[in-house]
Amino acid sequence: MSKARSTNTAPTETGADKNDEKTQNGAESDIFLDALSRMEAAAKVTHTSPEVLERLSRPHYVLQVSIPVRMDDGSLRVFEGYRVRYDDSRGPAKGGIRYHPDVNLSEVKALGFWMAFKCAVVGIPFGGGKGGIVVNPKELSNMELERLSRGFIQQIADFIGPDLDVPAPDVYTNPTIMGWMMDEYSKITRTHSPAIITGKPISLGGSLGRDDATGRGGYYCIKELEKRKGWSPNGINVAIQGFGNAGQHVARLLHADGYQIVAVSDSEGGVYREEGHNIPALMRTKQMSGRLLTEGQIITNAELLELPVDILIPAALENQITRHNASRIKAKTIVELANGPTTSEADKVLHKRGALVVPDILANAGGVTVSYFEWVQNRAGFYWTEEEVHDRLYSIMSSSFSAVYDLAQRESLDMRTAAYAHALSRIGAAIEAHGTQDYFISQD
Ligand code: NAD
Repeated sequence: MSKARSTNTAPTETGADKNDEKTQNGAESDIFLDALSRMEAAAKVTHTSPEVLERLSRPHYVLQVSIPVRMDDGSLRVFEGYRVRYDDSRGPAKGGIRYHPDVNLSEVKALGFWMAFKCAVVGIPFGGGKGGIVVNPKELSNMELERLSRGFIQQIADFIGPDLDVPAPDVYTNPTIMGWMMDEYSKITRTHSPAIITGKPISLGGSLGRDDATGRGGYYCIKELEKRKGWSPNGINVAIQGFGNAGQHVARLLHADGYQIVAVSDSEGGVYREEGHNIPALMRTKQMSGRLLTEGQIITNAELLELPVDILIPAALENQITRHNASRIKAKTIVELANGPTTSEADKVLHKRGALVVPDILANAGGVTVSYFEWVQNRAGFYWTEEEVHDRLYSIMSSSFSAVYDLAQRESLDMRTAAYAHALSRIGAAIEAHGTQDYFISQD
């Protein structure tokens, strides 16, 4: 680690070659198959019927589209996009839209699968879906980005709907993009349709409290752990990988409580500071310059993950903790704000070491929970105060955390298996309510 002022330049992306069925970032296996393995582990606890597992082993629908975009220089570029409606047993599919050069079908299927389980963990009446476009949005002008976003909605408009599949933001998409998408869908259907998408600007029907909901949900999980472990915040060091929507807000809330945020990073790398970062100042410079400009030791993302901190919060992309680095992860508590940051092989290593992992489908469920609140408000045409949003979010996150934590303690499970088991019982009950083999045979 070299001591220097962080001078991050233009953002770049990880260049891993991620095609449909290829492995990612040296991951142990295909990301979608790895996601399914978590369900299979949980099924051993829940004794879920094989019919349910069979149904949940593949997405209900997969749509692949190409989106032609007229670029500012007059040329035409055609982008590839996906929308997966993974499961809608418990309600309309729900899940974000990602803009990233590494987007691929296996990843979108895995993300849709995780969404179905996430909605079930926190008991909101949605299934799981996800979408993505293969693009580096940092290379596009805002006008090109608007044309791409509207073009994507034109291609998937028949596939989504307030009662069918409701998108939201994910990596490198934001409220402005959600607003363009809602507007485009409203134009196509000639209706005012705010409930088609969540994470919109407040002025277009967005919910108060949606901007920080993912970070806040993770923060509420940490507060629950704090109670159970008797932590005193100013004695606890935290490292956060990813300083976007999820990472910034959890950093802000923890910092305000006295936690020491000693390391943060973005796609360019990270900055370590033993005495802790001034998070509000860092958020301001990141928002103004797009860079992590602060005093401290420059570190790589890989080094950040291996720091001797109390809490590690992966809040960037999937497959960051793998069998290659799991044995070097020193944090005793890992709170997954990113989706899928830990592979199943790495999980085994962390478990053996006694690390407590608060899994993604619980830790980052605050975002979809407030997206659900936004959808409810749009449909009711009646809007809540920020305080009401926070209270309802706290109530759902703390009770869901307790349900998973208690199940893990009771059955001697790791929290991930407990979260999947909790979710699988709910999704399984919805699928089985239509009848099982036993039910149909008994009709004879
Ligand atoms: P974002 O686009 O706001 O921020 C992403 C951050 O990750 C940026 O700081 C970016 O620089 C950084 N990053 C990108 N590539 C990186 C790399 N290779 N190494 C380290 N950092 C890298 O995205 P977000 O909405 O904060 O999403 C982050 C994660 O949280 C994703 O896994 C997403 O699926 C998950 N998540 C987000 C929400 C939400 O509501 N936004 C909800 C649930 C889960």
